[in-house]
Amino acid sequence: MLYGFDIGGTKIEFGAFDASLRRVRQHRFATPKDYASLLDELCHTVQQADSELGCQGSVGLGIPGIIDSISGSLLAANVPAANGRRLQEDLQERLGRPVFIDNDANCFALSEAMDAANQGVASVLGVILGTGVGAGMIFRGQIHNGLNHVAGELGHMRLPIDAMQAFGGDLPVFACGCGQRGCIDNYLSGRGFEQLFFHRFSERLAAQDIIQRYREGHPSTVVFVEQFFELTACCFAGYLAILDPALIVLGGGLSNFDELYRELPKRLPRYMLKFARVPRIEKARHGDAGGVRGAAFLTLGTQAATA
Ligand SMILES: [Zn+2]
Repeated sequence: MLYGFDIGGTKIEFGAFDASLRRVRQHRFATPKDYASLLDELCHTVQQADSELGCQGSVGLGIPGIIDSISGSLLAANVPAANGRRLQEDLQERLGRPVFIDNDANCFALSEAMDAANQGVASVLGVILGTGVGAGMIFRGQIHNGLNHVAGELGHMRLPIDAMQAFGGDLPVFACGCGQRGCIDNYLSGRGFEQLFFHRFSERLAAQDIIQRYREGHPSTVVFVEQFFELTACCFAGYLAILDPALIVLGGGLSNFDELYRELPKRLPRYMLKFARVPRIEKARHGDAGGVRGAAFLTLGTQAATA
């Protein structure tokens, strides 16, 4: 049995998955405020599942943050109870079994790569267009983490040279929370989409309302959204030059903007190497459950890696 925890700032989702990766248990609880309670709650949930299911399940954790590759401690500002803690090691000690941990974007990508429809796809890039831009890369069923555990932090790549022209010559330079300027995170995310709209029209609209106006054919919004598609295409072309995945899966709020799946394949070739093909670009199949699925499946990736 595979257990996964999707640890968020306000709630934690638990799922138990059987050998055919079917979910057989789920449980949701509020994220504890302090570290001791967090450890207690996680242990209690695992032990309860063990006794109900009559097994000793493997444990995987997905967190919104970065695991310090040297100290093993977490950089997770949105989960204060776990921030700066060595959660993986402490939980391993308490449970007496290996515990796997990775960031939520990598878990999302792994969940999609492990979907039955995508088995056999050698390289999958998962991109979350939510509050920010997060991403994870899966090569042959394995998460690619890199030297510093920051591989796939595509939101913190800077805008490419084509971006200004793609956006009609009027692209603001936004500061990023990471300390840099011009990070893609602030442009292609749902938040970025809204920020750009405000920059252009001095009007604060939610992403959904902007999309609604676009669908109704509001002329200036149509121009804005078409330029946003072009901006997205030129940024994604940079991702493709590095990763060249066979499949891109989109998650997060903006992944529900269905026109993206029609427009990106049309607009990407202009920014790609002439002989390169556009990969499949699809909406995530598992929605919000991707985090808990991917966390549970971390065990499988590691087993394959050591086999
Ligand atoms: Zn940044």
